[in-house]
Amino acid sequence: MPRFDLHCHSTYSDGLLAPAAVVARAAAHGVDVLALTDHDEVGGLAEARAAAATAGIKLICGAEVSVSWEGQTIHVVALGIDPADPTLTQGLETIRSGRSGRARRIGDSLAAAGIRGAYEGALKHVTSERLVSRTHFARWLVEAGVARETKDVFKRYLTPGKPGYVAHEWATLPQAIGWIHAAGGQAVIAHPGRYKLSKTGMRRLLGEFRDGGGDAIEILTSSHTPAQFTEYAAYARAFDLLGSSGSDYHGPGESWLELGGLPELPAGAAPVWKHW
Ligand code: AMP
Ligand code: MN
Ligand code: MN
Ligand code: MN
Repeated sequence: MPRFDLHCHSTYSDGLLAPAAVVARAAAHGVDVLALTDHDEVGGLAEARAAAATAGIKLICGAEVSVSWEGQTIHVVALGIDPADPTLTQGLETIRSGRSGRARRIGDSLAAAGIRGAYEGALKHVTSERLVSRTHFARWLVEAGVARETKDVFKRYLTPGKPGYVAHEWATLPQAIGWIHAAGGQAVIAHPGRYKLSKTGMRRLLGEFRDGGGDAIEILTSSHTPAQFTEYAAYARAFDLLGSSGSDYHGPGESWLELGGLPELPAGAAPVWKHW
C-alpha cells in the first residue's frame, strides 16, 4: 500500500521549508504520494514537481483554500489541480490580496492591546511576498517574548474573541469548489474536527459541501484524535464523501506530526485517491 500525505506547507505560504526540501523530507519519511497544499497559493508547485521527479515520488498539485462559512473560516484542500488554470489562479489571487489589509488590521489590533510593531515583525517572518498569515504573526510574537510557543500565541491572541483577531471575508464555499473543479481537482474539507460546530452545524456544512459538488473530507489529519478518525470516517460514509489523509506539516519543530506520520485510512473508508 503506497503511503499518502495529501496536506502540507512550504515557504510559499506559512511552512518553514522550501518546496524541494518538503519533498525530500517526505521521501525520506517513506511518503510515496505527496500533495503540497500551500494556503491560497500554487507558486511552489513547479519546484515541488521537479524535486519529486528527482526523489522518485509522486507529487499531487494542491492548495488549501480559505473560505468563510456561517461566520467562521473553513479550509478546503484542492487536490489534483492544474496550477495554471486561470479561474483558480485568479480566485486565489483575490484571496491573497485581501490578506495584506487584514495583516495591517491584525497589527493595529495588537497595538491597541499594547503590542507594538507586530505588523513589521510579522513581515520579517514572511517567506513569500505574496502571502502573509497569522502564523507569521505567531512566530514574531514568540520571538518578541510575548508567548513561549506558537500554540500559546493562538490561544491568547489571533483567535476569535482575543486581541489580534480580526474578522475577514474569504471565498465562499461554492466559489472554492467551483475554482477547484474548474482546475480539474477534487475539493476536500480540511481538518473538520477543528471547526467550532455543533453536530447539526457539521451536518449542515457537509450537506452543503456535498450538494455543492464537494468530493471528500480529511479523515486523517494531525488535528484529529484517533476517536475523531473513526468519527469522521462515519461522516464520510453518511454523506457519501471520499476520505483523505494529510499531516498538515508546517516544518521542523512546529508540527505535531512528521510528514507521512499518519496511519492507514480506517477500513470501509473510500479513499480520495481511489480513481487516481
Ligand atoms: P491564516 O490563514 O492567516 O488565518 O492562518 C492560519 C494558520 O495559522 C493555519 O494554517 C495554521 O498554520 C496556523 N494556526 C491556526 N490555529 C493554530 C493553532 N491553534 N496553533 C498553531 N497554529 C495555528
Ligand atoms: Mn498554516
Ligand atoms: Mn488549515
Ligand atoms: Mn494546512
